[in-house]
Amino acid sequence: MQHIEFSAGLDQLIWKWTACNIYSAKSCYLATFHGSTACSWKLIWKSWVPSRVKFFRWLASQDRSWTTERLARHGLQHHPRCLLCNQEPETLRHLLLECRFTHEAWHETLAWLRIPAPIPSHDPSLMDWWMHAKENTPRILHKALKSVA
Ligand SMILES: [Zn+2]
Repeated sequence: MQHIEFSAGLDQLIWKWTACNIYSAKSCYLATFHGSTACSWKLIWKSWVPSRVKFFRWLASQDRSWTTERLARHGLQHHPRCLLCNQEPETLRHLLLECRFTHEAWHETLAWLRIPAPIPSHDPSLMDWWMHAKENTPRILHKALKSVA
């Protein structure tokens, strides 16, 4: 038979995001990004786009955008294909990287901003494209590149 002892002390809340286990607004803010990389954080939040676009990008990075694929996963009513091209299932990858309408938008936007980067199409993710495109883009255009992404 095991003997279990309980402490007579008071229960205590412990904040695990600081070394001293004491809450701070800074540690809470940084905990928000736990699990994300600095690059994805920069890509999302350090750009010139409106907050609603940043919020969409953040949702997309969490795979929480309401694409028809996600609607189907949750058993909700959805259109069977992409509403832009009506050719492929509407996944986030299709919407951001593969749709022919998206390719046109990428092409026009990159040309308008004179960013010498190829449009993302065969990259595994938008993040991969951004990392690759950043290497071939003059530093002065890096924030514009983040904003486009
Ligand atoms: Zn499409």
